[in-house]
Amino acid sequence: MIFEQPRSPLRLVERERPTAGPGQALIRVRACGVCRTDLHLLDGEVAVPAPPRILGHQIVGTIEAIGAESPTAPAGEETAAELALGARVGVPWLGFTCGSCRYCRSGRENLCPQARFTGRDIDGGFADWTVADLRYCFPIPAGFSDIQAAPLLCAGLIGYRALRFCEGAHRIGLYGFGASAHILAQVIRHQQREVFAFTRAGDREAQELARSLGADWVGSSEQAPPVELEAAIIFAPLGPLMTSALRVIAPGGAVVSAGIHMSDIPSFPYSLLWMERSLRSVANLTRRDGHELLALAPQVPIKTHVSTYPLERVNEALDELRGGRLTGAAVVTIA
Ligand SMILES: [Zn+2]
Ligand SMILES: [Zn+2]
Repeated sequence: MIFEQPRSPLRLVERERPTAGPGQALIRVRACGVCRTDLHLLDGEVAVPAPPRILGHQIVGTIEAIGAESPTAPAGEETAAELALGARVGVPWLGFTCGSCRYCRSGRENLCPQARFTGRDIDGGFADWTVADLRYCFPIPAGFSDIQAAPLLCAGLIGYRALRFCEGAHRIGLYGFGASAHILAQVIRHQQREVFAFTRAGDREAQELARSLGADWVGSSEQAPPVELEAAIIFAPLGPLMTSALRVIAPGGAVVSAGIHMSDIPSFPYSLLWMERSLRSVANLTRRDGHELLALAPQVPIKTHVSTYPLERVNEALDELRGGRLTGAAVVTIA
Protein backbone atom coordinates (compact mmCIF):
# COMPACT_ATOMS: atom_id res chain seq x y z
CA MET A 1 0.00 0.00 0.00
CA ILE A 2 1.93 3.03 -1.20
CA PHE A 3 1.83 6.70 -0.30
CA GLU A 4 2.06 8.87 -3.41
CA GLN A 5 1.09 12.35 -2.26
CA PRO A 6 -0.53 14.03 0.74
CA ARG A 7 -4.29 13.66 1.13
CA SER A 8 -4.55 10.76 -1.32
CA PRO A 9 -5.45 7.34 0.08
CA LEU A 10 -2.69 4.74 0.15
CA ARG A 11 -2.85 2.69 -3.04
CA LEU A 12 -2.53 -1.06 -3.50
CA VAL A 13 0.23 -1.94 -5.97
CA GLU A 14 2.20 -5.04 -6.87
CA ARG A 15 5.94 -4.68 -6.56
CA GLU A 16 8.97 -6.91 -6.84
CA ARG A 17 10.03 -8.41 -3.54
CA PRO A 18 12.86 -6.24 -2.16
CA THR A 19 16.30 -7.72 -1.46
CA ALA A 20 18.44 -7.32 1.64
CA GLY A 21 21.68 -5.41 1.16
CA PRO A 22 24.76 -5.57 3.42
CA GLY A 23 23.74 -5.55 7.09
CA GLN A 24 20.04 -5.73 6.25
CA ALA A 25 17.30 -8.27 6.81
CA LEU A 26 14.54 -9.19 4.41
CA ILE A 27 11.45 -9.45 6.59
CA ARG A 28 8.15 -11.12 5.84
CA VAL A 29 5.71 -8.72 7.50
CA ARG A 30 3.11 -10.36 9.77
CA ALA A 31 1.59 -7.27 11.34
CA CYS A 32 2.15 -3.51 11.31
CA GLY A 33 0.67 -1.03 13.73
CA VAL A 34 -1.08 2.13 12.54
CA CYS A 35 0.21 5.29 14.20
CA ARG A 36 -0.95 8.89 14.35
CA THR A 37 2.33 9.79 12.64
CA ASP A 38 1.09 7.87 9.58
CA LEU A 39 -1.88 10.24 9.58
CA HIS A 40 0.38 13.29 9.84
CA LEU A 41 2.34 11.98 6.84
CA LEU A 42 -0.82 11.21 4.92
CA ASP A 43 -2.33 14.62 5.69
CA GLY A 44 0.84 16.53 4.74
CA GLU A 45 1.50 17.77 8.28
CA VAL A 46 4.83 15.95 8.31
CA ALA A 47 6.58 15.69 4.94
CA VAL A 48 7.49 12.46 3.17
CA PRO A 49 10.74 13.55 1.47
CA ALA A 50 10.82 11.15 -1.50
CA PRO A 51 7.49 9.56 -2.41
CA PRO A 52 6.29 7.05 -3.42
CA ARG A 53 6.85 5.48 -0.02
CA ILE A 54 5.45 2.53 1.92
CA LEU A 55 4.37 3.87 5.32
CA GLY A 56 4.11 1.85 8.54
CA HIS A 57 6.68 1.82 11.32
CA GLN A 58 5.45 -0.67 13.91
CA ILE A 59 6.45 -3.79 12.03
CA VAL A 60 6.48 -7.34 13.33
CA GLY A 61 7.73 -10.05 11.01
CA THR A 62 10.15 -12.87 10.47
CA ILE A 63 13.61 -12.66 8.98
CA GLU A 64 13.62 -14.57 5.69
CA ALA A 65 17.04 -13.54 4.36
CA ILE A 66 20.07 -11.65 5.60
CA GLY A 67 22.35 -9.58 3.37
CA ALA A 68 26.13 -9.70 3.57
CA GLU A 69 27.72 -8.40 6.80
CA SER A 70 27.97 -4.66 6.91
CA PRO A 71 31.65 -3.71 6.77
CA THR A 72 30.96 -0.33 8.36
CA ALA A 73 29.06 -1.24 11.54
CA PRO A 74 30.56 0.95 14.29
CA ALA A 75 32.08 -0.84 17.28
CA GLY A 76 29.50 -1.93 19.83
CA GLU A 77 26.77 -2.13 17.24
CA GLU A 78 27.14 -5.80 16.45
CA THR A 79 23.82 -7.40 15.71
CA ALA A 80 22.21 -9.49 18.41
CA ALA A 81 22.84 -13.21 17.94
CA GLU A 82 19.13 -13.99 18.12
CA LEU A 83 18.54 -12.10 14.88
CA ALA A 84 19.11 -15.13 12.71
CA LEU A 85 17.05 -16.50 9.85
CA GLY A 86 13.52 -17.20 11.01
CA ALA A 87 13.73 -14.87 14.02
CA ARG A 88 10.67 -12.80 14.83
CA VAL A 89 11.64 -9.15 15.02
CA GLY A 90 10.14 -5.72 15.46
CA VAL A 91 11.14 -2.74 13.32
CA PRO A 92 10.51 0.69 14.85
CA TRP A 93 10.35 4.27 13.51
CA LEU A 94 14.09 4.83 13.99
CA GLY A 95 15.63 3.05 11.01
CA PHE A 96 19.14 4.49 10.77
CA THR A 97 21.48 6.81 12.66
CA CYS A 98 24.99 7.98 11.76
CA GLY A 99 26.68 6.63 14.90
CA SER A 100 29.26 9.40 14.97
CA CYS A 101 27.58 12.76 15.62
CA ARG A 102 27.50 14.33 19.08
CA TYR A 103 23.95 13.06 19.65
CA CYS A 104 24.76 9.50 18.63
CA ARG A 105 27.86 9.53 20.83
CA SER A 106 25.97 10.77 23.89
CA GLY A 107 23.08 8.28 23.98
CA ARG A 108 20.73 10.59 22.09
CA GLU A 109 20.60 8.93 18.71
CA ASN A 110 16.92 9.89 18.57
CA LEU A 111 18.15 13.42 17.77
CA CYS A 112 20.71 12.42 15.11
CA PRO A 113 20.48 14.93 12.23
CA GLN A 114 21.16 12.11 9.77
CA ALA A 115 18.55 9.77 11.23
CA ARG A 116 16.32 7.99 8.75
CA PHE A 117 12.88 6.84 9.71
CA THR A 118 10.98 3.70 8.79
CA GLY A 119 7.88 4.42 6.75
CA ARG A 120 9.02 7.96 5.93
CA ASP A 121 12.57 7.82 4.55
CA ILE A 122 12.74 4.02 4.26
CA ASP A 123 9.93 1.79 2.99
CA GLY A 124 7.92 0.49 5.95
CA GLY A 125 5.51 -2.23 6.89
CA PHE A 126 2.23 -1.67 5.06
CA ALA A 127 3.44 -4.38 2.68
CA ASP A 128 4.02 -8.13 2.49
CA TRP A 129 7.79 -7.69 2.62
CA THR A 130 10.19 -5.10 3.92
CA VAL A 131 13.91 -4.62 4.34
CA ALA A 132 15.43 -3.24 7.53
CA ASP A 133 18.88 -2.52 8.93
CA LEU A 134 19.57 -5.39 11.34
CA ARG A 135 20.97 -2.97 13.92
CA TYR A 136 17.53 -1.41 14.26
CA CYS A 137 15.55 -4.64 14.59
CA PHE A 138 14.48 -5.80 18.04
CA PRO A 139 13.81 -9.43 19.01
CA ILE A 140 10.15 -9.80 20.00
CA PRO A 141 9.64 -11.56 23.34
CA ALA A 142 8.07 -15.01 23.15
CA GLY A 143 4.51 -14.99 24.40
CA PHE A 144 3.58 -11.80 22.55
CA SER A 145 1.55 -12.43 19.43
CA ASP A 146 2.43 -10.41 16.34
CA ILE A 147 -0.72 -8.34 16.80
CA GLN A 148 -0.08 -7.76 20.49
CA ALA A 149 3.53 -6.76 19.89
CA ALA A 150 3.08 -4.33 16.98
CA PRO A 151 1.69 -1.38 19.00
CA LEU A 152 4.63 -1.58 21.39
CA LEU A 153 6.99 -0.49 18.62
CA CYS A 154 5.86 3.13 18.44
CA ALA A 155 2.79 3.72 20.58
CA GLY A 156 4.51 1.89 23.41
CA LEU A 157 7.97 3.29 22.78
CA ILE A 158 7.07 6.96 22.55
CA GLY A 159 5.12 6.66 25.79
CA TYR A 160 7.98 4.84 27.45
CA ARG A 161 10.41 7.55 26.34
CA ALA A 162 8.05 10.30 27.54
CA LEU A 163 7.89 8.59 30.92
CA ARG A 164 11.67 9.05 31.27
CA PHE A 165 10.96 12.76 31.62
CA CYS A 166 8.50 12.17 34.46
CA GLU A 167 11.15 10.93 36.83
CA GLY A 168 10.15 11.32 40.45
CA ALA A 169 6.50 11.96 39.57
CA HIS A 170 3.97 9.75 41.32
CA ARG A 171 0.72 11.11 39.91
CA ILE A 172 0.90 11.19 36.14
CA GLY A 173 -1.74 12.60 33.79
CA LEU A 174 -2.19 11.10 30.32
CA TYR A 175 -4.00 13.41 27.87
CA GLY A 176 -5.56 11.47 25.00
CA PHE A 177 -6.23 7.87 25.94
CA GLY A 178 -5.45 6.02 22.71
CA ALA A 179 -2.84 3.54 21.58
CA SER A 180 0.08 5.06 23.50
CA ALA A 181 -1.68 5.92 26.73
CA HIS A 182 -3.38 2.55 27.08
CA ILE A 183 0.04 0.86 26.96
CA LEU A 184 1.77 3.40 29.17
CA ALA A 185 -0.98 3.27 31.79
CA GLN A 186 -0.12 -0.39 32.32
CA VAL A 187 3.57 0.43 32.74
CA ILE A 188 2.83 3.24 35.21
CA ARG A 189 0.52 1.05 37.28
CA HIS A 190 3.16 -1.70 37.24
CA GLN A 191 5.59 0.83 38.71
CA GLN A 192 3.02 1.50 41.47
CA ARG A 193 2.48 5.07 40.36
CA GLU A 194 -0.91 6.66 39.75
CA VAL A 195 -2.57 7.22 36.37
CA PHE A 196 -4.92 10.12 35.67
CA ALA A 197 -6.57 9.54 32.28
CA PHE A 198 -7.94 12.53 30.36
CA THR A 199 -10.08 11.88 27.28
CA ARG A 200 -12.28 13.91 24.98
CA ALA A 201 -15.49 14.80 26.80
CA GLY A 202 -17.96 11.96 26.41
CA ASP A 203 -15.53 9.40 24.98
CA ARG A 204 -17.07 6.54 26.94
CA GLU A 205 -15.05 3.78 25.25
CA ALA A 206 -11.69 5.39 26.01
CA GLN A 207 -12.78 6.14 29.59
CA GLU A 208 -13.98 2.58 30.04
CA LEU A 209 -10.67 1.24 28.72
CA ALA A 210 -8.76 3.53 31.09
CA ARG A 211 -10.79 2.29 34.06
CA SER A 212 -10.33 -1.34 33.06
CA LEU A 213 -6.56 -0.79 33.00
CA GLY A 214 -6.56 0.50 36.56
CA ALA A 215 -6.53 4.27 36.06
CA ASP A 216 -6.83 6.00 39.43
CA TRP A 217 -8.93 8.81 37.98
CA VAL A 218 -10.70 9.23 34.64
CA GLY A 219 -12.18 12.44 33.25
CA SER A 220 -12.33 14.81 30.33
CA SER A 221 -9.40 17.03 29.40
CA GLU A 222 -11.28 20.15 30.53
CA GLN A 223 -11.68 18.76 34.02
CA ALA A 224 -9.30 19.29 36.93
CA PRO A 225 -8.53 16.14 38.91
CA PRO A 226 -9.13 16.23 42.67
CA VAL A 227 -5.41 16.35 43.44
CA GLU A 228 -2.38 18.07 41.90
CA LEU A 229 -0.44 16.01 39.39
CA GLU A 230 3.32 15.82 39.26
CA ALA A 231 3.67 15.24 35.52
CA ALA A 232 1.53 14.99 32.42
CA ILE A 233 2.10 13.47 29.00
CA ILE A 234 0.16 14.83 26.04
CA PHE A 235 -0.66 12.28 23.34
CA ALA A 236 -3.48 14.13 21.57
CA PRO A 237 -2.10 16.51 18.87
CA LEU A 238 -3.76 19.55 20.43
CA GLY A 239 -1.58 22.45 21.61
CA PRO A 240 -4.19 23.83 24.05
CA LEU A 241 -3.80 20.63 26.10
CA MET A 242 -0.27 21.73 26.98
CA THR A 243 -1.63 24.72 28.86
CA SER A 244 -4.56 22.73 30.30
CA ALA A 245 -2.02 20.35 31.78
CA LEU A 246 0.14 23.17 33.16
CA ARG A 247 -2.86 24.30 35.20
CA VAL A 248 -3.10 20.98 37.03
CA ILE A 249 0.62 20.35 37.57
CA ALA A 250 2.35 20.90 40.90
CA PRO A 251 5.49 23.07 41.21
CA GLY A 252 8.48 21.30 39.65
CA GLY A 253 6.23 19.22 37.41
CA ALA A 254 6.75 18.51 33.71
CA VAL A 255 4.31 18.57 30.81
CA VAL A 256 5.67 16.36 28.05
CA SER A 257 4.35 16.31 24.49
CA ALA A 258 4.78 12.91 22.86
CA GLY A 259 3.58 13.76 19.36
CA ILE A 260 5.55 14.57 16.21
CA HIS A 261 3.06 17.29 15.30
CA MET A 262 0.68 19.41 17.33
CA SER A 263 -1.58 22.41 16.73
CA ASP A 264 -0.27 25.73 18.09
CA ILE A 265 0.10 26.16 21.82
CA PRO A 266 -1.89 29.22 22.91
CA SER A 267 -0.08 31.96 24.82
CA PHE A 268 -0.49 31.70 28.56
CA PRO A 269 0.40 33.65 31.69
CA TYR A 270 3.92 33.09 32.96
CA SER A 271 2.50 32.21 36.37
CA LEU A 272 1.49 28.80 34.94
CA LEU A 273 5.13 27.98 34.18
CA TRP A 274 6.63 29.68 37.24
CA MET A 275 7.89 27.46 40.09
CA GLU A 276 10.05 25.29 37.88
CA ARG A 277 7.27 23.74 35.88
CA SER A 278 8.48 22.71 32.44
CA LEU A 279 7.08 22.10 28.97
CA ARG A 280 9.00 19.80 26.66
CA SER A 281 8.67 17.46 23.72
CA VAL A 282 9.86 13.92 23.15
CA ALA A 283 11.22 12.85 19.77
CA ASN A 284 11.50 9.39 18.25
CA LEU A 285 13.23 6.64 20.24
CA THR A 286 16.63 5.23 20.94
CA ARG A 287 17.48 1.55 20.61
CA ARG A 288 17.98 1.52 24.36
CA ASP A 289 14.32 2.55 24.76
CA GLY A 290 13.33 -0.34 22.50
CA HIS A 291 15.31 -3.01 24.30
CA GLU A 292 14.16 -1.77 27.72
CA LEU A 293 10.47 -1.65 26.85
CA LEU A 294 10.49 -5.05 25.18
CA ALA A 295 12.21 -6.52 28.25
CA LEU A 296 9.67 -4.87 30.54
CA ALA A 297 6.58 -5.80 28.50
CA PRO A 298 6.33 -9.47 29.61
CA GLN A 299 6.92 -8.49 33.25
CA VAL A 300 3.96 -6.09 33.38
CA PRO A 301 2.58 -7.97 31.37
CA ILE A 302 1.37 -5.44 28.81
CA LYS A 303 -1.84 -6.39 27.05
CA THR A 304 -2.65 -4.28 24.04
CA HIS A 305 -6.24 -3.61 23.02
CA VAL A 306 -6.18 -4.00 19.26
CA SER A 307 -8.52 -3.64 16.27
CA THR A 308 -7.18 -5.46 13.23
CA TYR A 309 -7.54 -4.64 9.54
CA PRO A 310 -6.29 -6.60 6.53
CA LEU A 311 -3.50 -4.78 4.66
CA GLU A 312 -5.69 -3.69 1.76
CA ARG A 313 -8.03 -1.93 4.23
CA VAL A 314 -5.36 0.18 5.94
CA ASN A 315 -7.08 3.37 4.67
CA GLU A 316 -10.12 2.45 6.77
CA ALA A 317 -7.95 2.11 9.85
CA LEU A 318 -6.43 5.53 9.16
CA ASP A 319 -9.90 7.07 8.74
CA GLU A 320 -11.07 5.57 12.03
CA LEU A 321 -8.01 6.98 13.77
CA ARG A 322 -8.54 10.42 12.22
CA GLY A 323 -12.17 10.39 13.26
CA GLY A 324 -11.35 9.44 16.86
CA ARG A 325 -13.41 6.26 16.52
CA LEU A 326 -10.67 3.83 17.53
CA THR A 327 -10.31 2.49 21.03
CA GLY A 328 -6.80 1.27 21.78
CA ALA A 329 -4.55 0.53 18.81
CA ALA A 330 -5.11 -0.42 15.16
CA VAL A 331 -2.95 -3.08 13.56
CA VAL A 332 -2.79 -4.14 9.94
CA THR A 333 -2.36 -7.87 9.44
CA ILE A 334 -0.78 -9.50 6.44
CA ALA A 335 -2.22 -12.84 5.41
ZN1 LIG B 1 24.18 10.72 14.51
ZN1 LIG C 1 4.52 6.13 15.36
